[in-house]
Amino acid sequence: MQIAIVGAGPTGLYLATTLARRGHRVAVVDRDPGPPRSGPWRRRGVMQFEHAHTFRGPVVDLLREDMPDFLDRLVSAGASIPTMPDGRPAALLCRRSTFEATMREVAAERPGIDLVTGHVDRTIDDGARVRGVQVDGRRVTADLVLDASGRASRFSAGIRPRAIGEPCGVAYVTRQYRRRRGADHPPTNSPIGLSLAFARYFAVAFLHDARTFSITIAHDGRDPRVRALRHAHVFESVVRRIPRLREWIDGAASEPMTPVLPGGRLHNGYRGQCDEHGALAAPGMISVGDAVCTTTPLAGRGVTLALAQASRLTAIIDHHGADVDSAAMEFDSWCTSAIRPWFDDHRHADADRLRRWAGGDVDLTRPLPSDLIVAAGAVDDRVRRGAEPYARMDALPDTLAAVEPLARSVYASGWRPPVADGPVDLGELCDASVAA
Ligand SMILES: Cc1cc2nc3c(=O)[nH]c(=O)nc-3n(C[C@H](O)[C@H](O)[C@H](O)COP(=O)(O)OP(=O)(O)OC[C@H]3O[C@@H](n4cnc5c(N)ncnc54)[C@H](O)[C@@H]3O)c2cc1C
Repeated sequence: MQIAIVGAGPTGLYLATTLARRGHRVAVVDRDPGPPRSGPWRRRGVMQFEHAHTFRGPVVDLLREDMPDFLDRLVSAGASIPTMPDGRPAALLCRRSTFEATMREVAAERPGIDLVTGHVDRTIDDGARVRGVQVDGRRVTADLVLDASGRASRFSAGIRPRAIGEPCGVAYVTRQYRRRRGADHPPTNSPIGLSLAFARYFAVAFLHDARTFSITIAHDGRDPRVRALRHAHVFESVVRRIPRLREWIDGAASEPMTPVLPGGRLHNGYRGQCDEHGALAAPGMISVGDAVCTTTPLAGRGVTLALAQASRLTAIIDHHGADVDSAAMEFDSWCTSAIRPWFDDHRHADADRLRRWAGGDVDLTRPLPSDLIVAAGAVDDRVRRGAEPYARMDALPDTLAAVEPLARSVYASGWRPPVADGPVDLGELCDASVAA
């Protein structure tokens, strides 16, 4: 088939590679000519491009299967793959910019892929089916259009069903740094770096490639004083007051690479392929990746869910050939059973986290959210073992039901997840830093 893919993000580039390998002719259209490897740190419409990413273990599994040359190139560029005790990959540590720029390089070298720079204004159709897209006023026809345009694209707004979901109640502030030659990273507490959970916010040092790392503070965005974190001197002053983060940004050992990057308007969103009657909303087009499901970045699941979709969609297209409507229906039904549960899980966990960040206690009158079940694994080994497949995203959230009663007993005994040592009120801390 002649396939037009809208969006050259991780989903679009992965699909371009797998589909071209199967003999399809693929045009990937993106308004950006490709991500910059280093500054300027802005990519219009892809706010997360500049933000700290960590890629979960299943991303490595999928890339080993479908894009091993890309993975090798990432590792040569300085990315690393920490492993779990059983030897399987725990994560892929690299900047989003390294990930995307390298993926684009690999896709550009593959025969059968045409990387087109241009803005997709809208789809073109014959009254019944999508037959291609209009790129900067020019028609690009296709047997199948894949919408890999991410979470906020407007080009198909009029023909796709409305997304369900809501803001996930978290705002991000991030700054990227590079460790100076010869300086080791300070102590970490997980394969991805150092994660600190405070009563009302999180602070994380994410390890990336080539001696780079990011410091991210995630909060509920409700206190206007916290907006001051976007100023470098306030951000650095706040980070220095968090004991275990202080040495990460010590100027003798590391230097900032970016301005402080704020990131708001984060949503949990889900949007399938069908209208309210169960019929395909846009025959001839299939949406995939963040265009289907967007989840709280706090859990770092976005790219895993996006590539899992891309991989499954490739297999489904293989199976159905030119019968793209059957492919769309099968993909929709697979997403309902394999992707939507993660969206539901995030909604539940985010709503409860917001309640706890506002001062609420663990609520034992309702089913425990997944993050609390996983946390209880720290004191009950049966919970830890039962929750492990979920935690690595090898099993769906409903598998936690088996250990929920055990976790409930942990909380009924009065135990609560430990809170890191550091300032409690981020707003007060920002005020003090502004004054200083
Ligand atoms: C702050 C933040 C932090 C995150 N951290 C993590 C993390 O740690 N780990 C993780 O796995 N996930 C994380 N995510 C989620 C992850 O970034 C997304 O899941 C991922 O970007 C989805 O890839 P995609 O290719 O589907 O969409 P995108 O990356 O959004 O790519 C869409 C592409 O489409 C292009 N496009 C859109 N509209 C048009 C148009 N009309 N014409 C032409 N081109 C168009 C855009 O330019 C873009 O290149 C984070 C998200 C945010 C917001």
